[in-house]
Amino acid sequence: MKIFCYGTLAVEEPYVRAWSKKNAVEVGMTSKPLSSATADLAKGYDGVSTKGIVPVTADVYAKFEEFGIKQLAVRQVGVDNQDVPAASQHGITLTNVASYSPRAIAEMGVTQAMSLLRHIGIYQQRMHNGDFSWDADTISTEIFNCTVGLIGAGHIGAATAQIYSALGAKVLTYDPAYDAALEPYTTYTDKETILKEADIISLHTPLLPSTKNMIDAAAFKKMKSNAILINMARGELVDTAALITALKTKEIAGAGLDTLANEVAFFTQKKPYADTPQDFQELNAMSNVIITPHVAFFTKLAVKNGLEIALNDAQLIINGQKSRHAVN
Ligand code: NAD
Repeated sequence: MKIFCYGTLAVEEPYVRAWSKKNAVEVGMTSKPLSSATADLAKGYDGVSTKGIVPVTADVYAKFEEFGIKQLAVRQVGVDNQDVPAASQHGITLTNVASYSPRAIAEMGVTQAMSLLRHIGIYQQRMHNGDFSWDADTISTEIFNCTVGLIGAGHIGAATAQIYSALGAKVLTYDPAYDAALEPYTTYTDKETILKEADIISLHTPLLPSTKNMIDAAAFKKMKSNAILINMARGELVDTAALITALKTKEIAGAGLDTLANEVAFFTQKKPYADTPQDFQELNAMSNVIITPHVAFFTKLAVKNGLEIALNDAQLIINGQKSRHAVN
């Protein structure tokens, strides 16, 4: 058996080699994205895997069908870059990796919240200016005296609830889908209560028409002035202009963001700072804001799991078996 991996990151390569050896399956690799221009690289292989943000078009699935390939294992949560109906039409089973390490994303959210809670950015900025003082503006609160509000408690929200609960915080959750397994860690409530009562509000919903701009100017007005907003999910969940206003007018105390609405224009790239979006520069200049470039997922375990789950699925389908991660 031979599988070809597109969009292979350097950090994935050791895991690819280990999986290949363990399963006695030859795995070819390229760092190039899967596209019309690179589809031919899979000729002679039995299966394929991909990762990346380049949309895959119908002609790619047609080529795979011609090569006798029956599956494409996406090493990501979403298949939004895939044309699912076209894949089905060409007999290609798509699989995704819905959960590679929820803890990775949960821990980044908690890390940013704790850093903001203790005003580390503010102290760093002061010290750069020779100011080693502290005052009423930077007095803090222990996490066990905080109320954390989670909006969305699927894989990542659940992991986040467990961590905050272990730290002794009071954890409130709003999610229309109730999960009884979370009862030891959280109390389910409504979104309004979370907006009004939480010291840390952490977003973990998918981006849907119903969740787009769910945190807008009206939501910020309901929040406590000491509230910290954490968004590890999707930038579009938050109205960025309203966030900047809320921070400037001290309606809230800080924000930790791993994702921004306009991130595709610059995240993962290297470009002059002056060419980055104005709203990013404005947020990034604030000492009570932490921005990371969509790297909450980026841990060794998450990379390993994403790769292994995808290749296991490819192997199953090539062998004529079913994968529970099939999306079509
Ligand atoms: P999931 O599907 O397991 O959970 C999402 C939860 O949101 C579900 O329980 C759902 O019922 C709930 N939900 C849906 N609409 C809601 C609403 N209006 N209000 C409250 N809850 C609502 O997803 P997950 O694996 O936990 O991932 C959550 C999101 O995190 C993903 O959709 C993705 O956007 C983001 N993500 C970010 C990174 C990163 O590196 N920053 C990595 C992976 C995923």
